[in-house]
Amino acid sequence: MSKVNLKGLSLSELQTFVESLGEKRYRAAQLFSWLYAKSAQSFDEMTDISKEFREILKHSAALDNLELVTKKTSAQDGTTKFLFQLADGLMIESVLIPPEKTSPNAEKRLTLCLSTQVGCPLDCKFCATGTMGFLRNLTAGEIIDQVIQAQRQNEKRITNLVYMGMGEPMLNYDEVMKSIDLITDESSILIGAKHITVSTAGYADHIRRMADEDRKAKLALSLHSLDNEKRTQLMPITKKFSVDELIDALEYYYRKTKRRPTFEYILFDGFNDTEDDIRKFIKLSKRIPCKVNIIPFHSIEFTHPLGFAAGLHPTPRARMETFADALRKADITVMIRNSSGEDIEAACGQLAVQEKSLVRKQSRKSETKNITNPQLHSAVS
Ligand code: SAH
Repeated sequence: MSKVNLKGLSLSELQTFVESLGEKRYRAAQLFSWLYAKSAQSFDEMTDISKEFREILKHSAALDNLELVTKKTSAQDGTTKFLFQLADGLMIESVLIPPEKTSPNAEKRLTLCLSTQVGCPLDCKFCATGTMGFLRNLTAGEIIDQVIQAQRQNEKRITNLVYMGMGEPMLNYDEVMKSIDLITDESSILIGAKHITVSTAGYADHIRRMADEDRKAKLALSLHSLDNEKRTQLMPITKKFSVDELIDALEYYYRKTKRRPTFEYILFDGFNDTEDDIRKFIKLSKRIPCKVNIIPFHSIEFTHPLGFAAGLHPTPRARMETFADALRKADITVMIRNSSGEDIEAACGQLAVQEKSLVRKQSRKSETKNITNPQLHSAVS
């Protein structure tokens, strides 16, 4: 009999599971707390559960923990990049980002950047993950376990989560939202939705869906250009949802939720940093109150970019400041992001597991299955 992976199950799914074993429902609440609040790595740690039931669990269930393969810390700024192996041998990365010194409550903040897919199908021309192609979606359990395992490596409490690692969260919407529901549950890890940001390359339909479902996590859009043609060159997803459709969806989102979306904007020298780009941004801010994060372009030379991608270069710092100031004058809230973790290839858009190490010990296939989404595991076997 194949074992059921408990990590990633909701309370009601755990209740169904324990009842299927002939146990009382309250056992599910105990398991939920051990899985998510107390980060148990094995059934033996669950000391308030009887020995007999723990033995039954060992036979019928599993805890598919992510395995830490490597951990690299930046000598420059303390950013830490984790390489995790999934139960089927595939690899993902997560990044722990210390606060920018200027941000409020800097010493208390610690942000983890989470992956939502192995690789990514979107092929944004400036992004290293895109060069890996798409392998599969992560389960809610694999998403939440990035938080659990990173926290186990760190004494300081993780306070914020950004869904900005490998992959496109909206293409894995159900598992991403389930992971947020689990993380924000008061008997769980308990990071509030206000401290969680989901970033999308531009799925207008899912932006509307987040508004309709009144999802409390914050929303960020990787905008990078307000010119449809230029954005299509940078991000082919623009062929599916045009800049106009995206802005309409964001206006809908803002009106419905009253929450300001954040626009991520990488500045590329001479490409999207002109007077015309500033004018377009200011016009947009009249429609939707904006928060803008300007991101320096991080080199992805290590992926050997060709063609259009090879011609993209970062805007020099002084012109980044000029661009930011012009937006600030129009009452737009602007932050220029620093390049945390660039020296260990852990900065925005630099996450890509090098091919050779992508699948390690492929023979070590998991015997477990995930009862909420069994097809995901078979998709890569
Ligand atoms: N697919 C989602 C989340 C992953 S990308 C999205 O597109 O939003 C996370 C952020 O990193 C995005 O804002 C993305 O545009 C940015 N990014 C990607 N490659 C980058 C690079 N080389 N330099 C700087 N930022 C990059």
